[in-house]
Amino acid sequence: MKFATKAIHTGNEPNLKEGGSGDVVVPIHLSTTFARAKVDRPTAGYEYSRSGNPTREALEKNLAALENGKYAFAFSSGLAAMTNILLLLKQGDHLLSIDDVYGGSRRLFTKVFGDFGLEFTFADFCQGKEILPHLTKNTKVIWIESPTNPLLKIIDIASVAETARAKGILTVVDNTFASPYFQKPLDLGADIVIHSMTKYIGGHSDCVAGGVVVRDEQLSVRLKFLQNAVGAILSPFDSYQILKGIKTLSLRMKRHEENALKIVDFLSRQPKVKKIYYPGLSTHPNYDIAKKQMTGASGMLSFELDTDLALSVKFLESLKIIAVAESLGVVESLIEHPASMTHASIPAEDRAKIGLSDTLIRLSVGIEDADDLIADITQALEGI
Ligand SMILES: *Cc1c(COP(=O)(O)O)cnc(C)c1O
Repeated sequence: MKFATKAIHTGNEPNLKEGGSGDVVVPIHLSTTFARAKVDRPTAGYEYSRSGNPTREALEKNLAALENGKYAFAFSSGLAAMTNILLLLKQGDHLLSIDDVYGGSRRLFTKVFGDFGLEFTFADFCQGKEILPHLTKNTKVIWIESPTNPLLKIIDIASVAETARAKGILTVVDNTFASPYFQKPLDLGADIVIHSMTKYIGGHSDCVAGGVVVRDEQLSVRLKFLQNAVGAILSPFDSYQILKGIKTLSLRMKRHEENALKIVDFLSRQPKVKKIYYPGLSTHPNYDIAKKQMTGASGMLSFELDTDLALSVKFLESLKIIAVAESLGVVESLIEHPASMTHASIPAEDRAKIGLSDTLIRLSVGIEDADDLIADITQALEGI
């Protein structure tokens, strides 16, 4: 099946067996426990909802299919999903991360797992050979976001994964910004894909959720064990919400990209806009890699105004349709100021080091009418 068909049908198959109800929408199974006729045999494979729940399982099956993976696991947030990946490691292990990783990921690495003896290095790399100087004999994981947040850098996933694999190192890709509609890291050689499903996959700003997808059976066994042993599972209701969101994922992603292209075109003609970061722009430094590994550039873009911090803030606060808010990848357009919002937890000197300036603005383009979004940006620009 093709992507849009899988998004709607995989995991959502109606139960047409004798006694099945034929629901075309997966029921929300709220039961925490499952009764048995035989003491030593769960009735339909379910024992207790932390270890397995039919609604969550439907979502996990669907998510695995979207990423061309085999096994998926749903968690109560993107960070809970990442925590389960980090728990694959042990004291003394080293993780190499791309430098402008999501602020919450960096916080989880250094301020939580750092205290448990994991070592972290943050570096700027694009190709596999560029990771070599940063590897130690204890490096177990390379952590990539592509596009990155908020500078929309592109990392050559196939090249990094190939170099890592040759050294027995796992490649993890946070695919939140591209969504599986535009990029499938497992097809590019990555071992683990993680998602904040709060963003594009859920898409409606009404559910915090995380997901992990793998192909390798051995990894899946350990992850399933950890999901149950640690317990940060996604609830049945939230699993239903995400499954519902996924049904329109392909339509939404197309529109996000279409609108982003129109806004980028508009911004590129504004004298008050100094710089635009968008992987769908042919002037993006890694446009060729983006074209090779993505089928579209999605709806995330950043830009710098040719002004100071105070007027950048004034611009943001003058917007009427576009909401100033954290989060991204949802139907409504959201705009934010990384230095004071999403990336405020990164020390100022580290922000400067990775090129994250105080006038940088990140825009998550929604699926409203692009003309209205452009009119809103126009009136806010006029005020500065
Ligand atoms: C939001 C986000 C996360 C964290 O996910 P939560 O669902 O908020 O826990 C991780 N990575 C990226 C790229 C994100 O945008």
